[in-house]
Amino acid sequence: MAATTNYPVWVYIDHFKGRAAPASWEALGAGLELAASLGGNLAAVVLGQNVEALAQQAAEYGAVGVFLADDPTLEDFRPEPFASLISNQARQAQPQVVLFATTTRSRELAAMVGIDLAAGVLPDVTALRVDSGTVLATRPVYAGKLLAKVTCLTRPQIITLRARSFAPPAAQPGRAAEMIRLDGVVPEDQIATRVEGYSQPSEKVSLTDATVVVSGGRGVSNNPAVQPPAGLDEKAVEIWRAQQGFKLVTELAEALGAAVGASRAAVDAGYISYDHQVGQTGKLISPNLYIACGISGAIQHLAGMRTSKVIVAINKDPEAPIFKMARFGVVGDLYEILPALSAEFRKRLSR
Ligand SMILES: Cc1cc2nc3c(=O)[nH]c(=O)nc-3n(C[C@H](O)[C@H](O)[C@H](O)COP(=O)(O)OP(=O)(O)OC[C@H]3O[C@@H](n4cnc5c(N)ncnc54)[C@H](O)[C@@H]3O)c2cc1C
Repeated sequence: MAATTNYPVWVYIDHFKGRAAPASWEALGAGLELAASLGGNLAAVVLGQNVEALAQQAAEYGAVGVFLADDPTLEDFRPEPFASLISNQARQAQPQVVLFATTTRSRELAAMVGIDLAAGVLPDVTALRVDSGTVLATRPVYAGKLLAKVTCLTRPQIITLRARSFAPPAAQPGRAAEMIRLDGVVPEDQIATRVEGYSQPSEKVSLTDATVVVSGGRGVSNNPAVQPPAGLDEKAVEIWRAQQGFKLVTELAEALGAAVGASRAAVDAGYISYDHQVGQTGKLISPNLYIACGISGAIQHLAGMRTSKVIVAINKDPEAPIFKMARFGVVGDLYEILPALSAEFRKRLSR
């Protein structure tokens, strides 16, 4: 079905089983500002099965139109059928900009759509502005040491937006949008992959979406005062100590309703699984509050969390580089400080 309105700006709404990734609404907020600057309307792109309510939600967040495909082949996210729908529609409708949130799924999708359309992709963008009809994007490079101003010479300009860099718009309950049903769903027998099922992720609160993150580093294993069980070898003692330390990190996270993060040193040493790693080769996050416990503040770690609104560092070493980045610093032993903080937060937050 063809749209009756011209939509120069599209925003893909990333979701899991109809529940939107919060960063999608932030992307929609950024898209509304772009559409206003470009003098056109914004359409959301909603693909999935049983996603009519999600399409309505996109309308309530301000989309003037919604490109909607609701089909059993779209029940699970798979890049090929999703990219195919977006690329085919983009070939016909020629949007100027297609925005995605920088989620794992959307990154993959943006790259595939970029390849389909032979268009440039600007990933992990933290600011946008329009200059003479062209979008200029800002993205951190060199582990966040520099901000690059980049643009796309091809159309559409495909851009993924870093979570928490843009404000979501206020929802207007009951607001309606033009619903444009997309044709051309790829038949199941032409899709090369199939999702066989899901297992529960280890994190209770999603690290990327969390507003508060408490992270542990190599320092969590440093508590020589506590005696480990007898008979453990050196590595087992280190892991045992790290488990005691991460228990304190997790207790503070639970008291604050926060996600648990980690440095690469902690992950590489086997203290905690890789999906908790924050940094250049881990997750890039921008929570409102980041509490670094026993983390020195290596540049590669800072690359993943330096845009956090408030950084608190707890470290024994007053010279640790993390203190240069932190708004608040506590010099001391995390084994003493974390239990005291957790108890105080539990009391104040009644948890
Ligand atoms: C290509 C590349 C990519 C990388 N990517 C990443 C990445 O994505 N993320 C990442 O984190 N790192 C990354 N690194 C590794 C990075 O360079 C550092 O080695 C790592 O971040 C150090 O982790 P850490 O701060 O936990 O450990 P350390 O640097 O060993 O720091 C431990 C800190 O704990 C403190 N401490 C010790 N005991 C206590 C205690 N009881 N109480 C309080 N404080 C205590 C110490 O004073 C010290 O400051 C990367 C490196 C390379 C080369």
